Amino acid sequence: MERIQKVIAASGVASRRKAEAMIDEGRVKVNGKVLKEQGYKVKRGDIIEVDGRTIEKENKVYYVMNKPKKTMCTSDDEFDRKTVISLVNSRERLFSVGRLDYDTSGVLILTNDGEFANMLIHPRYHLPKTYNLTINGILTPPQLMELKSGIVLDDGKKTLPAKYKVTEKDIKKNQMSLDLTIYEGRNRQIKRMMEYFGYNVTRLHRKQLGFLKVDELKQGEYRILKPYEVKQLR
Ligand code: URA
Repeated sequence: MERIQKVIAASGVASRRKAEAMIDEGRVKVNGKVLKEQGYKVKRGDIIEVDGRTIEKENKVYYVMNKPKKTMCTSDDEFDRKTVISLVNSRERLFSVGRLDYDTSGVLILTNDGEFANMLIHPRYHLPKTYNLTINGILTPPQLMELKSGIVLDDGKKTLPAKYKVTEKDIKKNQMSLDLTIYEGRNRQIKRMMEYFGYNVTRLHRKQLGFLKVDELKQGEYRILKPYEVKQLR
């Protein structure tokens, strides 16, 4: 028997803490009755509703995709743009672990395990993420040092130390490509880091997430994560 907060979190509706707040707000029903107690232990056959929608107990599934450009990481898009979810042939209600921008390609995990997803994107879980990017300019050695030690973004918060490797420097075209490894996942972080130096990212590909790579997958292709891979990410 699992506590209700855990069951709600596992369904991907909300984190455990948010689930507790939802219970306090009277938004959770068990077998048709508004739940009053926080620690309720879910029994087999219980019907749990959050905001009137039933939570179903599903098998947990885990995929890794090489996300193609021109796809959204949301489950549906107000402008009807293609979503990564629509590319996966799965009966389960999937969502992506974190988000990549519409024009970003690369490693993306898709799952229906909300708790797993929340854990991986939690700010305290410093999962390394390596991006290969191209910018419309050339960073100087002092700027690269700054990038490595951390820069203050537009929200006033400093980025954690990062690692980089210059992979291409084209003075004629005035562009540079680099591998950049960051240990956090703030919104549009890479683009904002480059904007700090006055440059735009013209290409962005996530090469690696933790130990996961997608070199063997074409853009838009995906595969099931092996149980040991899921375990290793936890
Ligand atoms: N940083 C960005 O700016 N965009 C992404 O898609 C991922 C990281």
